[in-house]
Amino acid sequence: MVYFDHNATSPMSTRARAAWLDAVERFPGNPSSPHRLGARAEAALNGARERLARMLGCAARDLVWTSGASESANTVFHHCARRLDAAAEVWISAVEHPCVREAARHYFGARLRLLPVTRGGVADLDWLAAALRRDHPGLVALMAANNETGVLQPWREVAALCREHGVPFFCDAVQWIGKLPGHGLGECDFVSGSAHKFGGPKGVGFLKCPAGGLIEPLVRGGPQEDRRRAGTENVPGVLALLAALEECETALAAGGAESRAAWREDFERALLARLSGAAVVGTGQPRLWNTVSALMPDTDCRQRWVVKLDKAGYAVSTGSACSSGKESPSPVLLAMGYSPEQAGRVLRFSSGWATPHEHWCQLLEALVKVHAELTQAAGRQAEVS
Ligand code: PLP
Repeated sequence: MVYFDHNATSPMSTRARAAWLDAVERFPGNPSSPHRLGARAEAALNGARERLARMLGCAARDLVWTSGASESANTVFHHCARRLDAAAEVWISAVEHPCVREAARHYFGARLRLLPVTRGGVADLDWLAAALRRDHPGLVALMAANNETGVLQPWREVAALCREHGVPFFCDAVQWIGKLPGHGLGECDFVSGSAHKFGGPKGVGFLKCPAGGLIEPLVRGGPQEDRRRAGTENVPGVLALLAALEECETALAAGGAESRAAWREDFERALLARLSGAAVVGTGQPRLWNTVSALMPDTDCRQRWVVKLDKAGYAVSTGSACSSGKESPSPVLLAMGYSPEQAGRVLRFSSGWATPHEHWCQLLEALVKVHAELTQAAGRQAEVS
């Protein structure tokens, strides 16, 4: 299978798997246990915390291990709901992942405001700067890179604006970490990350908390993580997370992202040349080197594309999560000004570090072939009716 769904999850890297197996053997104890096996596991966990803190540019004490980014995001809004005054608003961008959007809505309801994005899918900085001169929200949230479109967000500028106005800032960095350098993220008050998006195991992630690391726990019932998150820590998962992330950071330092961005650009150019009516979402904006969000020609619904490509040996995605069995249009695409009909024609192709150039070329040929089949089928349908 040619895999183009890395933004949903990346297969575990060989190094991460080796680190996981090694940790299972070397650190069988519970980090909270009073004996030497426990102490050894705790030391491994804290060593990993130090390594991640160096990578992000924050203090080790500010990092809490979690089950992944959904838990991290829910913890942020739980914390804010407990600590902010009853009238405080939270502002989140209109293109956040559902784990941020739904958690914010759950805890803040009518006190939630959406920060608009441009047609290119980038948070509107002018809107935010003007709004911050008038009002003082309890929290601003903006992701680092969008999971559906790959569009990079001005998180550094928003972090600086928030700092200037004394407003805490949360950055969901799930799709950024492992694809672009993580350094500097540690300056945001809250940051979430998830191992399975960059070659680590599923079910492990982290939350960077404000300096000093104080946070209201979402998961209660134990003293773990300095009473900030109850539950026995996933030591092998954390060590595999670090191994995967260090591998990505090494590839980034070696310039691996630049060549891969060129492959993505070649693919996009060829796609537009060979499929008339196709368009790239977020075109012209800085985007992740691995993601193409494509508005497909008006031949059939995107589910049919996904099924046909799957049968041909290509795993691609529609990009947005499907809720309640029936797919509703992506709020991200609607916020960018696409109509529900257009949103229903968008496919996402997302590569990984190990995806070779030839896979992009093969994917293009498969798309051209499926397009021809769908066009023929639509023609036959028109003749019958
Ligand atoms: N945030 C973004 C931008 C994501 O893409 C995802 C997963 O798709 C998440 C958060 C949730 O991550 P997790 O699977 O670790 O809960």
